[in-house]
Amino acid sequence: MTNPTGPQLVTVAPGVHAWIGAGGDSNAGAIDTPDGLLVIDAQQYPRLARQFREALAEKVAKPLRMLIDTHCHLDHTHGNVVFADLPILAHAKTLTAMDQALGPRSGDRWTITDFPTKLRMLFGQNIMELVPDGDPAQAWFRQRISLPDYDTVTIVPPSQTFADEFAFQLPNETVHLNYWGPAHCDGDIVVHLEKSRVIFLGDLLFHGRFPWLGDCDLDGWIDRLARVLTLDIAVVVPGHGAPTDLAAVARFRDMLIALRGAVSQAIKSGWSEDAAVRDVHLPQYAGINRYKDWMPLDVKAAYRYLRGK
Ligand SMILES: [Zn+2]
Repeated sequence: MTNPTGPQLVTVAPGVHAWIGAGGDSNAGAIDTPDGLLVIDAQQYPRLARQFREALAEKVAKPLRMLIDTHCHLDHTHGNVVFADLPILAHAKTLTAMDQALGPRSGDRWTITDFPTKLRMLFGQNIMELVPDGDPAQAWFRQRISLPDYDTVTIVPPSQTFADEFAFQLPNETVHLNYWGPAHCDGDIVVHLEKSRVIFLGDLLFHGRFPWLGDCDLDGWIDRLARVLTLDIAVVVPGHGAPTDLAAVARFRDMLIALRGAVSQAIKSGWSEDAAVRDVHLPQYAGINRYKDWMPLDVKAAYRYLRGK
């Protein structure tokens, strides 16, 4: 399913809904419970978050119970402000990442107007080292947040946090929130509906879009995906792209393994970082959206990660 025109609310199992961002934009979701909807992720800016909330009100028509943030990145949390009337639940590391990146709050929220802080919240703490001022690659990132929706970014933090795991017992279902260690960033959780055999992977899975590796723990990410593959799952909702299945998770893991292998071979062969960024290619994946924009920076990030181990 490609969805270039607008986001879409799709029902992936009885009482389980996925909000699929347009053209690979970030996804969200909602799970029906007797105490109201558990909302998963909040979109990349308030205008889209309101659209998501309105679609839930129109098509599911249930009160909202709680918002769950799968991780700290801005494209999943900037819309928290639209759900600030609800409790907001995340892993403790998500709140720590926000506190460290954003410093003291003004009241119950942060307000950001400067480019580096916005970029760090969207792409990770090391982004300005990966794409320093003066680097022509920065133009893509300036364009990425050029919409007026990003002029002033207000972030509402999680109001409740947990470590490692959390569960909602429903009459006929258990919803597991699991943290398995650093992966795409630090604080990624998955939302697993055991009986419905549905899992929301957040940004552990990019489907139909080349992944961003800037602030990832590459070995950890590959390990977490191996763990996902041991589960009994019928529907996988990625952080970006259409709902899919475990076969797509396996293919995505294989791509990360291929990237890690190519960069680690370059390091073993004594290539400089610049040479690796220029000459490490994965032609079999070059047709994937964002490959051209992100592969050189992913190689740079993976090179630094693997050298630092
Ligand atoms: Zn992310």
